[in-house]
Amino acid sequence: MINIKDITRRNVLEMSPYSSARSEYKGKANIWLDANENPNETGLNRYPDPLQMSLKIEISQLRKVKTERIFIGNGSDEIIDLLFRAFCEPGKSNAYIFPPTYGMYQVSAAINNIEIVEIPLNEKFELPTFEAIQTKISAPGLLFICSPNNPTGNSSSMEEINKIAANFSGIVVVDEAYIDFSERENALSLLNENSNLIILQTFSKAYGLAGARIGMAFSNPEIIAVLNKIKPPYNVNTLSINAALEVLSVNEKIQLQISKIKQERELMTKRLLELEIVKLVYPSDTNFLLVKFLKEELVFQALLKNGIVVRNRAAQIENTLRITIGTKTENEQLIKFLKEI
Ligand SMILES: *Cc1c(COP(=O)(O)O)cnc(C)c1O
Repeated sequence: MINIKDITRRNVLEMSPYSSARSEYKGKANIWLDANENPNETGLNRYPDPLQMSLKIEISQLRKVKTERIFIGNGSDEIIDLLFRAFCEPGKSNAYIFPPTYGMYQVSAAINNIEIVEIPLNEKFELPTFEAIQTKISAPGLLFICSPNNPTGNSSSMEEINKIAANFSGIVVVDEAYIDFSERENALSLLNENSNLIILQTFSKAYGLAGARIGMAFSNPEIIAVLNKIKPPYNVNTLSINAALEVLSVNEKIQLQISKIKQERELMTKRLLELEIVKLVYPSDTNFLLVKFLKEELVFQALLKNGIVVRNRAAQIENTLRITIGTKTENEQLIKFLKEI
């Protein structure tokens, strides 16, 4: 078990957090004259709840995790940055990543002056052996496992994640942005045994709220308290909290959308493989497909000319485009244009 205080940045341990008007008063009141708000009702004239309790209660029921183990951020991207600020010492700590993977880990590391140590996935995009990982670890810091992984689409096993978390003397972040599209169980069950584990999920993908910017972190209460201490007081706005409550109230509808997207993903895999220009479609636990073409740049440009934007990932994985699963009509149009190419 890791002592969280030992891995928290010293200035963060020692600082006093900003105390917002809304977080100081705990009781019930009818008249609010504490925060210099405009008293005239606009629906948004009051500051939001700094701890987003109404939303945490719903998430708690959905994921079967206690509210004190939940942090909500302005997207997962904000949480990634907060983790660097809380648990990495600029110029001293390292961040360990398994490329090809999500780009924000590297960007946040650079902003925070943290050295990135790359431990590449193997040719099947699986995590390297535990021994290979261990030889690369020097300074403590953050270790990121993206599962299901962006842009490769595959997942790591619970055993691998558990083994890494149990043996790494820093924070292990499991980014589960795509977990709702996967048949695998989420890693939340590993939280009890691993005090250094943080699981990230988001409303941006399966829950259809990329524009609302709502990310979640699940961890032990001590880590959550550190994040609460350093976050901007009102980091999640009222409109977004309400939007998230709204989608959670129609969760069956969301689940139906997810299963349709998964069906489309399987259908698109088949149809893409029928095309001569397609060399390979990688298996996917996500809402996108990583597709290897004979000449990906040619395909990329031709699609652009037809007003279809996909993501060129050739810089990370030779000859590949990453294609999000769209609506049935959008997917059919994509196939139609690919056939013309
Ligand atoms: C899309 C994505 C996210 C989501 O980030 P938000 O800031 O919550 O929108 C996080 N991690 C990965 C790997 C992603 O692909």
